Amino acid sequence: MATRYIDGAAGPLAGAVVSDLDEVPLPSPDVRNNKRPLEIVWRNVVLMALIHLGAIYGLFLLPSARAYSLLWVVFCSVVVTCGLTAGAHRLWSHRSYKARLPLRVFLAIANSMSFQGSVYEWCRDHRVHHKYCDTDADPYNAARGFFFAHVGWVFLRKHPDVKAKGKLLDMSDLMEDPVVRMQKKFYIPSAVLMCFVIPSLVPLLWDESLSNAYFICALLRLAVALHCTWSVNSFAHMWGTRPYDKHITPTENLVVSIFAGGEGWHNYHHAFPVDYSSSEFGWKVNPTTVFIDVMAWLGLAYDLKKASPGVVRARAARTGDRSFKEHVQ
Ligand SMILES: [Zn+2]
Ligand SMILES: [Zn+2]
Repeated sequence: MATRYIDGAAGPLAGAVVSDLDEVPLPSPDVRNNKRPLEIVWRNVVLMALIHLGAIYGLFLLPSARAYSLLWVVFCSVVVTCGLTAGAHRLWSHRSYKARLPLRVFLAIANSMSFQGSVYEWCRDHRVHHKYCDTDADPYNAARGFFFAHVGWVFLRKHPDVKAKGKLLDMSDLMEDPVVRMQKKFYIPSAVLMCFVIPSLVPLLWDESLSNAYFICALLRLAVALHCTWSVNSFAHMWGTRPYDKHITPTENLVVSIFAGGEGWHNYHHAFPVDYSSSEFGWKVNPTTVFIDVMAWLGLAYDLKKASPGVVRARAARTGDRSFKEHVQ
């Protein structure tokens, strides 16, 4: 498998896809004393309330679920994780590796199962998050507190800075990908089909009840998956070490990595966003890296980019919080 070492955050793709950290402005002073009236997006509030009420009912139904239904939940969760972490995040947001058409098609379909917006929207928000991390232009700005970073941002109209900076991003690479264009065009029907209809109908094959299938395999599974993703923006921006850059909020968080497919090595990821592994340590609590490596072995992924150990060491020595040595094997 060909892995290409890159020179950290200032790599060749950094300008187009992620920030050079030197460009990141300090958090604007109005972050906490923001006098701007908060505009609630009631559609999202109602949608999330319904999903979570259904998920709670699903919890009560759990003891009556068939074993195959639980296996189906695990299978769907693996598919969703691939669509988000290997797809929207590491492939399309950061271009940390390249993928051949069959893999891109799979990742786009898997992404629709996540119900987190189209790949295009997800990547636009995520690129702004990296470029303007911890400022008003960051959609999940951790400087506005845990609740906002976790889920509050879903309930509120985007800050004007997010929209303004988002419009300045170069998203042409995504629109050049026909798979991304198609997923964007048919996002709503594909999301309803992949996130609600298929998870609810497949369990009927092994005589599961429709209510168990809907409330457990669709809604409960979805609610858990949403919180796993959101935990990267909340927990992994607040608690943990900062071995690579102590000047930013993202942290190394083992628990988040366990629940989010290896995306909790977040201090490393913000320091070296074009590294396909999003971590210094390869397969260690990082199933997404295992998946990409297997895809590379099958010939479906290629041009995997990796920050060189020398660059990582130098960066940790320059900006880390001195916890780096504890990470050395
Ligand atoms: Zn990222
Ligand atoms: Zn982040």
